[in-house]
Amino acid sequence: MNTAPTNGTGDVVRLTGVSRTYGGERNRVTALDNVSIGFSPGTFTAVMGPSGSGKTTLLQCAAGLDRPTAGSVLLDGQELTGLDEKQLTMLRRERIGFVFQAFNLLPALTVADNVALPLRLAGRKPAPGSVERVLERVGLGPRAIHRPGELSGGQQQRVAIARALITEPAVIFGDEPTGALDTRTALEILRLLRESVHEAGRTAIIVTHDPVAASHADRVVFLADGQVVDELHGASADAIAERMTHLGAWGDQVVSGSREGVH
Ligand code: ADP
Repeated sequence: MNTAPTNGTGDVVRLTGVSRTYGGERNRVTALDNVSIGFSPGTFTAVMGPSGSGKTTLLQCAAGLDRPTAGSVLLDGQELTGLDEKQLTMLRRERIGFVFQAFNLLPALTVADNVALPLRLAGRKPAPGSVERVLERVGLGPRAIHRPGELSGGQQQRVAIARALITEPAVIFGDEPTGALDTRTALEILRLLRESVHEAGRTAIIVTHDPVAASHADRVVFLADGQVVDELHGASADAIAERMTHLGAWGDQVVSGSREGVH
């Protein structure tokens, strides 16, 4: 792929003046409001905020899954604004790994074939031993020929992480990657993400509503009403939860004694 030179900031992902609105003149919703933020290589960031604050929109704009209404997104040296759908698809396949709450594995394929899929879709063959190595890394070496339905939720999410890592992406994006897992299994997944960031030099950006999950990140970015309102570095789960209570709807719900529906 043609890569434009980086802008010199050193960030692997940089959003500059990004806005995203939905709807027309009468029912306009501003999901992101002039957001500028950078993510440096080798860091793990959690994005938090009340439901509707723009977390998913931020992730999707940063990952080239959605197009900002205004502003620019630079990913791994490539300006996304102006790329057509085909170029965006190629960039996502080659430079980005995704991990979603619903593991999104193909049930008819074996674990090994699920992991190799991003390479196959890009018309590439896995290098000999590469699928086995990445499965070893996520602790699933012996499960290569199993189908996803034969694995637990945590194991399926580890397959999804292996699939995200196989292309050696610059950035891994996660949308509530631990949302469907019990606490202990969620911890394993977060450790794996941390490892791939700190040992293999990847960059991870996840959306989460869980302060405990966010405390595994190096940095927590807080959104409210489509804007970045604060960030914490190396914060404890308690400090993160405390900061959340002062953010819009989430705070209101905590004050009224219920966290239900928080998202
Ligand atoms: P979060 O992930 O923090 O819950 P989202 O990024 O999903 O927030 O949404 C931010 C705002 O944009 C919300 O008000 C939401 O209703 C609105 N929104 C998101 N996607 C769409 C869409 N496709 N059409 C209209 N409004 C949308």
